[in-house]
Amino acid sequence: MVSIATLGSHSALQILKGAKDEGLSTILICQNSRKSFYERFNLVDHFISVNQFSEIGHQEIQQQLMEYDSVLVPHGTLISSVSLDSIEQMEVPFFGNKYILRWEADRNLKHKLMKLAGMKVPRIYNNPEEIDRPVIIKFPGAEGGRGYFIAKDSKDYLKNINKMLGQKLINEKALEGVFIQEYVFGVPAYPHYFHSPILDRTELLGVDRRYESDVDGLGRIPANQQLELMPIPTYNVVGNIPLVLRESLLPYLFDIGEGLVKAAHKNVPPGMLGAFCIEGVYDNINRFIVFEFSARIVAGTNLFINGSPYSQLYFNEPMSMGKRIAYEIRLATEQNVLDQITT
Ligand code: ADP
Repeated sequence: MVSIATLGSHSALQILKGAKDEGLSTILICQNSRKSFYERFNLVDHFISVNQFSEIGHQEIQQQLMEYDSVLVPHGTLISSVSLDSIEQMEVPFFGNKYILRWEADRNLKHKLMKLAGMKVPRIYNNPEEIDRPVIIKFPGAEGGRGYFIAKDSKDYLKNINKMLGQKLINEKALEGVFIQEYVFGVPAYPHYFHSPILDRTELLGVDRRYESDVDGLGRIPANQQLELMPIPTYNVVGNIPLVLRESLLPYLFDIGEGLVKAAHKNVPPGMLGAFCIEGVYDNINRFIVFEFSARIVAGTNLFINGSPYSQLYFNEPMSMGKRIAYEIRLATEQNVLDQITT
């Protein structure tokens, strides 16, 4: 039987627990500083020590992973700490479609795929002079929305950009990759999906919302002091909160989840395999406007290590996303079709 390998961060505990529950052995690629943390839980069969996660692309580590007959389960830390070139060149089977990561990393390609999937998406502006409604400004590679800001019109946009240039918070180069997107008023929601090529179905396994500093702390400051004390709040995620949606909102989530699976299948072969997440905002007439997707397990699934109100509808046992991944890998291995779920 194969082993499941992942990086020691993000959703590793959930992935390891899921693998163990499915009877698979586990490998954790781990920085020494985190090893004792992961040793607290009896979930890792073999540790591979690295100084930096990017070393996972090195030949010796790839070889070790191959010797253990591993399937690498990617998560957010892999995507943020290893280059796309290195991921694409890896020898070890990668759970899911590694080629879709380029679409995920490029905001324009991502927007295109979301539209092809039939999603309602915020308007994007190529020319700041055309801004005709509130927008959110995103800089290249900004994680946790650091430096993102909201502008109410093009004048406001220019005023903020000039201020940031003046304070050297950004440089001219960052402006080349600036992404100007309509700001959607409402509440964010992050539905988690699993597309199973083996069972030929797309499942909804959970929904969360994020708990973000600074934005979720803004309400702790009196309104008349907010602008002065927190002029550019960040969206740094510190955790996740479970969400159960009105049942009438669910059919649309299946439409867009399956829409994304179809659009990916056509445009980014072999398509959307395994875990993914759609990220959007519900407005005040229940429209779900999508601003992002992630083509892999997201950390919001850590909430549901014992299953969610949605996973319960498919499985008569607690089913986390981590366990669902391991279950798919086990089924594919038993049927000798691992190549259908890995790249
Ligand atoms: P990152 O990928 O760095 O986490 P995101 O693009 O996911 O950044 O955005 C960070 C946060 O900003 C989201 O969680 C959401 O709260 C908010 N956000 C992003 N885009 C929009 C939008 N178009 N309208 C409203 N809020 C948005």
